[in-house]
Amino acid sequence: MDILSVEKRLSLVRFRIHEKPHIVIDVSKCEECDYKVCVKACPAGLFSIDDEGRLHFNYEGCFECGTCRIVCPNEAISWEYPPGGFGVSLGFG
Ligand code: SF4
Ligand code: SF4
Repeated sequence: MDILSVEKRLSLVRFRIHEKPHIVIDVSKCEECDYKVCVKACPAGLFSIDDEGRLHFNYEGCFECGTCRIVCPNEAISWEYPPGGFGVSLGFG
């Protein structure tokens, strides 16, 4: 079996987006968060900070790795898997 490059593997990733977010952020907790570790921890780059320091998040494109929930020090993240048939799917070439 051939070893696939990271770029090739990522090109095989597909998302089927459910209208109901499977991750919900309690942004009131984010306002007091000094480190905002979610921004650097998310491998999909789905968290960002705007010029006013507010957190923004888009659940579309989530790899469902669970890292954000684990690293958040304020338990601000409500996390569940998307309903069956939705979310990320990984191709194998
Ligand atoms: S680490 Fe948690 S509390 Fe801090 S900004 Fe991210 S989601 Fe909000
Ligand atoms: S589960 Fe993983 S990919 Fe999805 S938002 Fe959290 S850190 Fe990012």
